[in-house]
Order: sequence, then C-alpha cells, then structure tokens
Amino acid sequence: MAPAARSEPIKACHVVAVPYPGRGHVNPMMNLCKLLASSKPDLLITVVLTEEWLGLIGGEEMPPGIRFATIPNVLPSELERAADMPSFVGATQTKMGEPFEQLMGRLAEPIHFIIADTFLFWAIEFGNRRNIPVASLWPMPASVFSLFYHLDLLERNGDHPFDVSERGEERIDYIEGIESIRLIDIPSIAYMKDQRLITLVRRIFINLTKAQYLLISSIYELESRVMEALNLEFSFPIYTFGPAIPYLNLEKVTTLSSNQSLSDDQLIYFDWLNSQPPSSVLYVSLGSFLSVSAEQMDEIGDGLRASGVRFLWVARGEAERLQQRCGEAAGRVVPWCDQLKVLCHPSIGGFWTHGGWNSTMECIFSGKPMICFPIILDQTTIRKHVVEDWKIGVDSKKYLAPGEILRSGKITELVKRFMDADSSERREMVGRAREFRQIIRQAVSEGGSSMTNLASLLNHIVHSACDSS
Ligand code: UDP
Repeated sequence: MAPAARSEPIKACHVVAVPYPGRGHVNPMMNLCKLLASSKPDLLITVVLTEEWLGLIGGEEMPPGIRFATIPNVLPSELERAADMPSFVGATQTKMGEPFEQLMGRLAEPIHFIIADTFLFWAIEFGNRRNIPVASLWPMPASVFSLFYHLDLLERNGDHPFDVSERGEERIDYIEGIESIRLIDIPSIAYMKDQRLITLVRRIFINLTKAQYLLISSIYELESRVMEALNLEFSFPIYTFGPAIPYLNLEKVTTLSSNQSLSDDQLIYFDWLNSQPPSSVLYVSLGSFLSVSAEQMDEIGDGLRASGVRFLWVARGEAERLQQRCGEAAGRVVPWCDQLKVLCHPSIGGFWTHGGWNSTMECIFSGKPMICFPIILDQTTIRKHVVEDWKIGVDSKKYLAPGEILRSGKITELVKRFMDADSSERREMVGRAREFRQIIRQAVSEGGSSMTNLASLLNHIVHSACDSS
C-alpha cells in the first residue's frame, strides 16, 4: 500500500507505529493502535509493515484512523523465521532502518510520535535525530525485560553463561523485583550453546534509555514488584497497558450462535465446539511460528488420542496429517483459529500452550488453566510465572531433560489428570484462574491500571507531542 502523497497533508495528530515482523509482536502493536484509535478517533496512525505482513493482516477490519504503509520485504520470509532465528533477528536490526527512513521521508504528514517495538532499536535513533518522541513497546512480561536487561549482573556474579544441564535448578534472587528464579527459568536463549541470539537481543537495550517511554504489554498487578524496581531504575515513564489482546472484538463471541461474520473454516470448528459439553475440550497450540519435531508432534497426537479427552489442536502446516493420525472422533486439528474466541468458548476447559506471552494473556483473560510446554525464548520464564508464582497451570516438562521428547504415555497421564473435573488439583487451579481473570479484566475496566496508563500515554501523545509541534 503506497504511503500518502506529499501534496495533501492531513492536519491531524500523527503517530507512526512500527511492529517487529512476527505475530507475537504485530498483534500487541495492532491491539494498542486499535485501543488508541478507539479512544481518540481523530488520531492518525500509520502502521509500518513489510509487504509480506501487509498481505497477512491488510485485509482485517481496522478503525478509520489506522492506515498501513509498507517497506519492501527486506527480511527472510515468515516461514523461514523459526528455521534461522539469528539471521531473521539480525536482518531486522540491519535491513529495516533504511527503508523505514525513506518511507518516513515520503509521508505527507508531519510525524508527532513513534511507537516502535523494542527489538527495532534503530527507530529510537531515528526519532532522536528528528526530535520525535519514541515509545518503545516491549511485548513480553516485565520480568523478561528485566532479566535480559540485567544479564551483565548475572555475568558479574558468575551466573552467565552457564551449563543448564548442570546448573538449571540453581536459583538466583539478586535482580531487584524478580522473585527467586531457577536458572533454567530465565529466557532460554541466554543459556543456549549458540549465543548468537542473545548477543543480538542484548544490542536492543544499548540505546533504550534514549527512548521517551517504555510500554510493556503486561498488567501492573501481575508484576508489581518488578514494575516498582524498573520505575526506580529508569527515568522515563514506563506504562503497562496489557493485555494487548483483541478483547474489543469479543462482543462477537456472544453472537457466535448466529454464526455471522465467521468464515467457513471457523464455522466448522465453532460448530464442533458448540456441540461439546462445558469445559470438556483441551485447546492445544504451540503458537504462531515455532515448531517442534514431527516425532514430538506425533507423540502429542498419540497421547491426546489415548487420553480420551476431546481436543481442538492448531497444528498449522501439519493439521491434515495429524487429523488423520488422531481420527475425527478424538478431536479436531486445524491449521489456524481465532484463538481468543476459542479460549473464551464455554466448551474449552484448558490450554496446552508453548506459553507465548500473548497466548498466556489470552488464556488468563478467558479464566482457564494451562499446561505449559515451553519451547524457547521468554516461554521458560512465563512457565515459571504460570506454574510457580500464579499457580494457574502445570509444567509438562517438569521431569524432562533439556531437549528430551515428551512421550505419549506421559502426555496421556498428564492430560487426563489436568482435565479431570473431579480432581481437587484442577478445581483449585480453575478457582485461581478465575481470580486472575478478574485481575486482568479489572485492569482494562474504567479506572483500571492499564486503562489509566493508556489515558496517560494518549495525553502525552496529544498534549506533549502534537500540541507542542
Ligand atoms: N494465534 C491465533 N491463532 C492460532 C494460533 C495463534 O490467532 O491458531 C495468535 C494468538 O492469539 C497470539 C499469537 O498468535 O496472539 C501468538 O503469540 P504468542 O506471543 O502467544 O506466541 P508466538 O507465536 O509469538 O510464539
């Protein structure tokens, strides 16, 4: 989509938003933009995407104040992202900045404010050079931000790098605001043998203090200790604004029975969900781009089928193969689904998740317990929060050595116990999951912490950035 021509500038408060090109980053950025646009309809928000990402989300319904502008596909494709993450992350650091600046030069309207994913640190340099305030958006828990940011402290204490198979169970408790945490629960790229990813991630923090705001897609009440510590450490405002999930679209959930606005694919799995007893279905998904081995997928399929628990499983490219392996009676395997609506469906009783932050927020919003199956990145830390701190889920990898496959027998046992409505363990977890649902919904209610922070952010954008220019 071409950016606006120079000849007809629109007089409006103009925000440029640039998400990191990955589903777990694009979704929270888009949800933030939609929240801002719905609070202030005369705001103009230009969302900068690669052409590939415009193809993926350009067709979605957007509020009138949001428009897209693109840079060319300078990165490996979305499908290649998981296969070689260091190359992908490296390319987002070295190849996107220049086309972004060229695009900014072609926009007709003056830019008053930039919201850029924290991974795209070059946007802070651009904003500083042009005297445009920049809010850096961190789409993960505040704890993960703090752990990455304080890796030098771990180094000074001789706790990084370390061999996870030897020291994984050791705990550290010297990072301000972070509860005692096992070394295996810090973000896994910090202890991978290949240190390329962590080297790239450390780079994103170098000029962070030159941003004017830090936005975290979390909820203050869930991470108050770490937020207090970060607020003492940084001089810029830090706003939690989560959950950055599409809860504004949820009214449609209540009208699902009318089946309007659903695609044929959606009709099939929602019809099936509608025919299942309450809380009886396990929703299974390992996120938007990461994969586990075909052998592990087969073990999950065999374990689920043998458990007798009905399931809805998002298996992306492997959906057809796995549906055949499991048979229709056991459950449904689909390539993709409307996740938040699925989680909120009354037939869903729990979520087998890799523990991506958006998936975790969506699950907490739905009030359902989780089986954590972390693969990489922040998922190890999120598992710690879900299982140890919040006690709203169980750890499927508890007795597994790093890299070991979880076998079907163990999966069957785990899934049966997790979904057993008569077990006191499940009843307690469900009770707590409902309490957490309250916390998260309160945050986005009138006067709640996230709503108040969003109002402050909007106030800064409109009065400090737009009015003063
Ligand atoms: N998602 C979805 N449908 C699916 C699977 C995933 O809409 O079938 C969305 C999900 O709602 C979430 C995002 O993809 O917003 C995944 O982000 P997350 O942070 O959980 O994990 P990632 O994919 O980045 O590892």
